[in-house]
Amino acid sequence: MTVPFLDLTGGYNELRTEIDAAVAGVLQSGRYLSGPQVEGFENEFAAFCGAEHCVTVGSGHAALELALRAMGVGPGDEVVVPSHTFIATWMAVSATGALPVPVEPDASTATMDPARIDAALTARTAAIVPVHLYGHPADLDAIDAIAQRRGVAVLEDAAQAHGARYRGRRIGSGGNAAAFSFYPGKNLGAFGDGGAVVTDDPQLARRVRLLSNYGSAVKYRHDVRGTNSRLDEVRAAVLRVKLPHLESWNARRGRIAARYLRELDGALALPAVAGWADPVWHLFVVRTQLRERLRQVLSDRGVDTQIHYPVPPHRSAAYADHPAASAHLPVADGFACEALSLPIGPHLTDDNVTVVVEAVTDAVTASCR
Ligand SMILES: *Cc1c(COP(=O)(O)O)cnc(C)c1O
Repeated sequence: MTVPFLDLTGGYNELRTEIDAAVAGVLQSGRYLSGPQVEGFENEFAAFCGAEHCVTVGSGHAALELALRAMGVGPGDEVVVPSHTFIATWMAVSATGALPVPVEPDASTATMDPARIDAALTARTAAIVPVHLYGHPADLDAIDAIAQRRGVAVLEDAAQAHGARYRGRRIGSGGNAAAFSFYPGKNLGAFGDGGAVVTDDPQLARRVRLLSNYGSAVKYRHDVRGTNSRLDEVRAAVLRVKLPHLESWNARRGRIAARYLRELDGALALPAVAGWADPVWHLFVVRTQLRERLRQVLSDRGVDTQIHYPVPPHRSAAYADHPAASAHLPVADGFACEALSLPIGPHLTDDNVTVVVEAVTDAVTASCR
């Protein structure tokens, strides 16, 4: 048996009849952008998140960039970001012209450590972007308190956290704006790129919508210099078919994570769940100093794994001219050296999970001899 890291056909096969009909309906309608599917999905996703507004855009990166621009972030500003995240968080900040300023995560939850934020704030800080990495919420109350005290905005990078809860509240509700991605591999994935900004603030929603559509709310009247970043009707129609299944898919991820946590206890460093968090297990990331060895043994047994992420943003060539380039950020560097993502997803079978558990257990036992 081989266990794929991620099999995107599972979601399609489960809902094939409905998805095929939704796609055909759009193709036959002649309406491919800015139509009823996008509007319907925006309403449904806002309701799912418990927020007033949802504005769809072309990608998760665009959701982050346009939300920051709508908040007034731009050249000369600094934006606090995690040192350990997918590089899109940093690049979205850079795209506004602002400087991403890294803050180290808490090593147990892999999310931004509020205790380290104050030291990163300067007179130029315009916003803080916590990331709910791997589907585990960052400590929002502590981060919001700092942001309020210092008068800076908070934008949540929720690209990996559709449906997660912080102290019982859905990510996307609770006052901050949140940016989501519908990249195919995310917990709610489209067949292609997509993203959304979710917020209770009508002005912010309006500005993101303007920016995403050439600065225009009325055809040929352009109020600001925007861009073209829109979700299309086909992708929105598919997302509407998938959204009602998101909670049960997340619950299935949770049951797989519970098995890993129980059955691999003692074998490796396992992810921690903070008291405030109901994570949605976008990824299940273990840590080991014997990573290459473990990866090889798993691969020999047909188990596919990934590394999230092998090069931290501050060490990537893209940020060679950044003030923190090649700095020793020990927590981020530690994740880059030791993190290994085991297969997890709603369409993995119980037998798949058993194969992973047995392979990891055997590999770890063997490496101790
Ligand atoms: C996927 C992801 C993004 C970017 O989303 P895209 O839709 O790929 O542009 C941003 N931040 C994080 C943490 C992500 O995982």
